[in-house]
Amino acid sequence: MTEYPVDVAVVGGGVIGSAAAWRLAARGRSVVQLEQFEPDHRRGASHGTSRIYRQAYDDDFHTLLAGRALPLWRSLEEVTGTSVLTLTGAVDHGRPETVLTRASTLGALGIDHEVLDVPAAESRWPGMRFDTTVLHHPAAGRLHADRAVWALQDAARRAGVEIRHRTPVREIHGLASGVEVVTDVDVIRARHVVLAAGAWTRPLLANTTVRPAPVLPSLRTTQEQPAHFAPVTDADWPSFVHHPGAELDGEGVYGLGSETGVKVGEHGTGPVVHPDTRDHRPDPDGVQRLVDYAATWLPGVDAASAVPDSCLYTSTPDSRFVVDRAGDVTVAAGFSGHGFKFAPAVGELVAGLVAGDVRAPVPFRFGVRRPVVA
Ligand SMILES: Cc1cc2nc3c(=O)[nH]c(=O)nc-3n(C[C@H](O)[C@H](O)[C@H](O)COP(=O)(O)OP(=O)(O)OC[C@H]3O[C@@H](n4cnc5c(N)ncnc54)[C@H](O)[C@@H]3O)c2cc1C
Repeated sequence: MTEYPVDVAVVGGGVIGSAAAWRLAARGRSVVQLEQFEPDHRRGASHGTSRIYRQAYDDDFHTLLAGRALPLWRSLEEVTGTSVLTLTGAVDHGRPETVLTRASTLGALGIDHEVLDVPAAESRWPGMRFDTTVLHHPAAGRLHADRAVWALQDAARRAGVEIRHRTPVREIHGLASGVEVVTDVDVIRARHVVLAAGAWTRPLLANTTVRPAPVLPSLRTTQEQPAHFAPVTDADWPSFVHHPGAELDGEGVYGLGSETGVKVGEHGTGPVVHPDTRDHRPDPDGVQRLVDYAATWLPGVDAASAVPDSCLYTSTPDSRFVVDRAGDVTVAAGFSGHGFKFAPAVGELVAGLVAGDVRAPVPFRFGVRRPVVA
């Protein structure tokens, strides 16, 4: 057995594991990060050219956590010299109750925002049609996903993290103190392990013998398929969330401009899959729904130009994340299709949990599940 004395082993090289490794190393921990696949792989949840960054949530907790992530994204850009976050503003529209709840959360927290009517919004963002009330907040925009993961790993390395790609973790065993993390080539002894394994969290936990064992809520893995559309104007594209309930049915639609076109997706409508056996193939009915959506709501794109992509959601029953600690194991999972924007703030929280100087926030605890957050 190879001895590898390290403070923390982080399992997972997606945005969450990479952010956790960076923030742990920033606090002086020795860290090894283990990722089963090659750099830039497309089999998890963190690849692609874009993710929405926004602060408008229904509750203070998520709004403040997104706000905390902003200076950390900026600090990542400074440390690595890589641009990851472009503020374009974001709009919410659709069911007025939902939109106005978010407006009042932003207002109560003193976050700059405005509520517009449809004609004002359509004249400001001519690439879009709007449904009822429109909320705009400027401290929002788009993250470049691939660059962000790359930059997090760059910052982690600069802070001393050893990152090993193509290194699947097979088992984790609890010791009297610390853990043994079993890979194909060695066994790593660490004081603590962080599981940031996305859709593979359940299979990994099944091969984990630590006491106390983390008891997670159910995690549902679905294959989602946003599509990119070619813009036909040089209109500005805010990030947007179109909430269902007024003129739109279903689970809602999100979108944003990106280097590869205007990305549009339904929120969490894909089939349940296993991450190792999914087919990565677009469902033609789902693509058609996005084409129809673009034809109706996005006059600024060519609706016939859809190029679908495939990605995973790993969702808890209430869409709240699981970020909590049991003994020598911290789990960061269940990011429910909206975790990217928070990543450095989640990484900071993980580092605090490992250090033992914070408790998990109530909404993220293993046992607590509450009504759904959109
Ligand atoms: C289509 C789509 C659109 C989205 N849009 C947004 C958005 O606009 N805004 C937003 O904030 N969020 C968005 N999200 C959600 C966000 O992308 C995810 O919440 C986030 O990427 C989850 O990151 P993760 O690190 O938990 O998972 P992953 O990126 O899947 O990373 C987990 C990693 O762990 C590795 N791993 C697993 N098991 C092992 C093992 N045993 N050994 C070694 N390595 C292992 C995997 O290979 C994987 O690389 C979107 C997600 C999708 C799919």
